[in-house]
Amino acid sequence: MKRPEGIKTDIEMKQYSWFRSGGLSRYFSRPKSIAEMIDVIRWARSESHEISLLGLGANMLFPDEYFDGLVLQTTKLKSTMLKSNENFQFFNESEIDVSAGVQLERLVNSLNSQGLAGLENLAGIPGTIGGSVWGNAGAGHGSISEQVVAVQCIDSNCELRWISADEFEWSYRYSGIGDHIICAVRFRVEPNSDPVRLQESSRDLKAYKESVQPYEQKSTGCIFRNPESGPGAGQLIDNAGLKGWTVGGAKISELHGNFIVNESNATTADVLELVHTIEEKIFSQTGIRLDREVILACQEKSR
Ligand SMILES: Cc1cc2nc3c(=O)[nH]c(=O)nc-3n(C[C@H](O)[C@H](O)[C@H](O)COP(=O)(O)OP(=O)(O)OC[C@H]3O[C@@H](n4cnc5c(N)ncnc54)[C@H](O)[C@@H]3O)c2cc1C
Repeated sequence: MKRPEGIKTDIEMKQYSWFRSGGLSRYFSRPKSIAEMIDVIRWARSESHEISLLGLGANMLFPDEYFDGLVLQTTKLKSTMLKSNENFQFFNESEIDVSAGVQLERLVNSLNSQGLAGLENLAGIPGTIGGSVWGNAGAGHGSISEQVVAVQCIDSNCELRWISADEFEWSYRYSGIGDHIICAVRFRVEPNSDPVRLQESSRDLKAYKESVQPYEQKSTGCIFRNPESGPGAGQLIDNAGLKGWTVGGAKISELHGNFIVNESNATTADVLELVHTIEEKIFSQTGIRLDREVILACQEKSR
């Protein structure tokens, strides 16, 4: 099968990760439509290339080594029915369809200004709709899955279909979507809500997040999921006296122990060494095995 146009080669992945680390990827594609995306996936599968899905890279680390596969980024994926300034379309008066590549922050702002409630508590989470639904993003006030009605996916046979949200096993920072590639998501929204109230609520939450997380720095996002009970991962790391620890250019954030920040040309290997140190120290001090939230692309997971 001929390689579809627009697939770039030997692309540096650093620029696409929020943390700014990682090596080269053999192939890189950013399709603008679902049809283009299916073509690229068919080609990659026909050539047995490993595929790594990428949204905004806010919860992903790329290996420092060469990745001999295809990175498929969704940020240009948008419904052809929409104008450039539109982020969603109505399915009915209380349900909307959103392309996987739309940024969550932009969607929240659009919904708030149109008085559509439901996602306002997710303000301040960097990422695309695809990445956020795949990882069931959320904050203290709930998770994105609470508003998901259905997910449009490309399955392992390259078939495009809507799957009801009930068919996935949602839990804390987990969707069960696994190997399916998310193209769009249908959300439940509450019309006729007060735009000013929604905007204020999002603004306050975002301001709070920015005061307790290293939002302006290059970071990994949360490294570990919080344990089901007891102190959160950040608190455990703080209690273990690990805040401020560094390996190479990577440092455990002084602001929030569950974030690693890139102080100066950090590599993914630096982050992984810190992650292992945290895991060992927390286990030896508390008997708790922390569960990783951040995804190491192309090694632990492929499609
Ligand atoms: C400063 C900061 C603050 C953060 N705060 C929060 C927070 O409060 N709550 C929270 O939940 N998270 C938080 N995160 C983590 C991150 O914002 C979320 O996980 C976000 O949803 C990631 O979206 P993304 O598009 O960047 O996904 P990526 O990091 O690009 O990808 C994440 C995973 O999703 C998969 N994926 C991406 N797109 C698709 C697709 N279309 N189909 C199938 N799989 C796909 C990827 O393969 C990867 O496994 C924070 C991160 C940072 C840097």
